[in-house]
Amino acid sequence: MLSLGIEGTAHTLGIGIIDDKGKILSDVKSSFFPPKGIHPREAAEHHAQMAPKLLKDALKTAKINPKDIDIISFSQGPGLPPCLRITATFARALSLKLKKPLVGVNHCISHIDIAKLMTESCDPIVLYVSGGNSQVIGKTCGKYRVFGETLDIAIGNAIDKFARECNLGFPGGPIIEKLAKKGKYIELPYTVKGMDFSYSGLVTDIVRRHRQGAKLEDLSFSFQEHAFAMLTEVTERALAHTEKNEVLITGGVAANKRLGKMLSIMCKERGAKYFACPMQYAGDNGVMIAWSGILNKKKGKTTKIEDSRIRPKWRADDD
Ligand code: AMP
Ligand code: MG
Repeated sequence: MLSLGIEGTAHTLGIGIIDDKGKILSDVKSSFFPPKGIHPREAAEHHAQMAPKLLKDALKTAKINPKDIDIISFSQGPGLPPCLRITATFARALSLKLKKPLVGVNHCISHIDIAKLMTESCDPIVLYVSGGNSQVIGKTCGKYRVFGETLDIAIGNAIDKFARECNLGFPGGPIIEKLAKKGKYIELPYTVKGMDFSYSGLVTDIVRRHRQGAKLEDLSFSFQEHAFAMLTEVTERALAHTEKNEVLITGGVAANKRLGKMLSIMCKERGAKYFACPMQYAGDNGVMIAWSGILNKKKGKTTKIEDSRIRPKWRADDD
């Protein structure tokens, strides 16, 4: 079975083709990163313009004809509505033209599915940390549950906001990680409430201190220490609560070495295994959607055109 997957929930339009054994035939993408941040309508426009070319590229790389594809998988949500609408329309059109089943996929679960395929991990507590999402997720009794999540902005968004407000450029993650290497510790707000965490107060404090003349190196180091300790604390509590013994990190922020180090120390102390999704598949991509499409199809879950409306607020723990 060959699945063509279309990802288009936010900044990236990606098309991937994978078979039911997990062999990747193509993985093409185009990302929209304007310097002042994403405007949903502009990102959607980018996706609409790029879709035909990416489809051609994906088929060419895979060396297949459109009729060889068995299912059309697409990211049905969560995400930015204008972007989701373009992706869904494109997927519906392909499904109707090729007369192949449509499979709507949850973007967050898809990150987990591909991360599991890429690692030896079986039943992990997943830390999904990206520009738009920050969640601690795990499966219990056959259902994904969100054990903890951000109460306001995502960690990646917080990092990018810090960088933008301090004129460091975009994306902020790699810049802040580099500056942090030469920084010293300053105490900043640390906000964990129950199992949830919050970043907007931390960013506000960083910006205020920057204006008062604090060194960017110290702010970067201290931001990382606080923000990542919050994630590590909640991940550890989810491990303890579920008695699982694996942690799996994915999403663009998984690139950060300091976060990886904190998590692996925590895992070592608890006797748990630590896994990280390879970075090529940790950010948004079409392959992950294609793979989740295969897993859904194997469970008999396809999506009728009339049920294929976008689901901008679809949670991993909704169904
Ligand atoms: P995604 O939304 O999954 O594509 O991830 C993008 C986010 O990852 C952006 O907010 C980046 O700033 C962040 N990011 C990328 N590299 C790093 C890094 N080395 N450390 C921290 N965050 C990073
Ligand atoms: Mg994502």
